Amino acid sequence: MFRQLKRTLVATLIAALATGPITMAFADSADSLPDMGTSAGSTLSIGQEMQMGDYYVRQLRGSAPLINDPLLVQYINGLGMRLVAHADSVKTPFHFYLVNNDEINAFAFFGGNVVLHSALFRYADNESQLASVMAHEISHVTQRHLARAMEDQKRSAPLTWAGALGSILLAMASPQAGMAALTGTLAGTQQGMISFTQQNEQEADRIGIQVLQRAGFDPQAMPTFLEKLLDQSRYSTRPPEILLTHPLPESRLSDARNRANQMRPVVVQSSEAFYMAKARALGMYNSGRNQLTSDQLDAWAKGNVREQRAAQYGRALQAMDAKNYADAAKNLQPLLSADPDNAWFLDLATDIDLGQHKSADAIKRLNAAREVKTNPVLQLNLANALLEGGQPAEAERILNRYTFSNKEDVNGWDLLAQTEAALNHRDQELAARAEGLALVGKLDQAISLLSNASAQVKLGSLQQARYDARIDQLRQMQQRFKPYQKM
Ligand SMILES: [Zn+2]
Repeated sequence: MFRQLKRTLVATLIAALATGPITMAFADSADSLPDMGTSAGSTLSIGQEMQMGDYYVRQLRGSAPLINDPLLVQYINGLGMRLVAHADSVKTPFHFYLVNNDEINAFAFFGGNVVLHSALFRYADNESQLASVMAHEISHVTQRHLARAMEDQKRSAPLTWAGALGSILLAMASPQAGMAALTGTLAGTQQGMISFTQQNEQEADRIGIQVLQRAGFDPQAMPTFLEKLLDQSRYSTRPPEILLTHPLPESRLSDARNRANQMRPVVVQSSEAFYMAKARALGMYNSGRNQLTSDQLDAWAKGNVREQRAAQYGRALQAMDAKNYADAAKNLQPLLSADPDNAWFLDLATDIDLGQHKSADAIKRLNAAREVKTNPVLQLNLANALLEGGQPAEAERILNRYTFSNKEDVNGWDLLAQTEAALNHRDQELAARAEGLALVGKLDQAISLLSNASAQVKLGSLQQARYDARIDQLRQMQQRFKPYQKM
């Protein structure tokens, strides 16, 4: 029932995009919206789009089952950036998020934010297929489809429309979030949705396949993946969720096929990281059917060298998941010996060591890795091992640097808060917790912790000035976010 409801909402969203303004329950808030410097009916500026993206990303972090796995986050962002580097008209920074959700879906958010469901790893046979979905989403962003849709909304306040859209996108990522509030407020027909979205979809495919090819992936992956989705909807009572947000008539498939056929054929192998990411996404974040099956492991074991290594890694992950540390170590050992600087292997080796209370081994191994100073994943691992190993001062040194250059990683703030607690630095612990809360949109609580931190340090100290300045920043952020909170 939940799914049905969600589908209806998405269809309604698309209908609303095409046919008219969403007023309804959002109407009152529109009246009290501050002037954002946009005349009614004009397109959302990049600045506004970024600001809304910032607001909704915090909501997403706070409400959707985001996968904050440093390795997977690094992988999808690396893949995304490789594509973005070959896109035209890039006006915003891009960020890619992975949600633990077994429905195949992906959607582009305001301000260059792209959300991928973990089920994409189950369905993508190779890296080019995964990249084809991402290239399509990136193209929705660079073509500013969300903002352009607003041009048809001349009579409505852009913010009202965008707020409704933002809420729906959040509801899609996290069915529990705001669903009750939304159902009563949205109404509409599906008329007009086809013609509107088809044009956007065609454009996102057309631009996306160019991006895909320029970035060195196989352009045939786009029609192949679309065909898989279409098959899925033909032979199943329930079509893949992605087709509701990205309608797929047969013509879209044939157009993509024609475009790919006009491009120079290439043979592209998936990177080893793709297989590791797939093994990890399926093995560790298995919501519902999203699992690393023995069929998959057996198939990989018979595949190329990269796939064989993924099978080995997958078995180690499974043993780790079962807390069978000795078995995990045994499976991982050949991989680690062959490639002692590999972050996927080092990360798992650290977990195995810490599971066995052998933090000294983990610290030694990580310190010996060549990339430890430059790879954020290894830095987090090292800080974690140091903390576990009773060396919080060393961990603090790493984490202060880490959080300075990775301000939006909740893992860093969480680990820093634990480290400050271990050091009995109460004010710094509070400040680190405040940053974690701010990232998930809990600004009131963040400000309250910072006020507490400020009260604990010497009056007029530099530290106090820093906390107070941060409180001011968060208050300003609260003001900026006010219009969206009402929606
Ligand atoms: Zn699309």
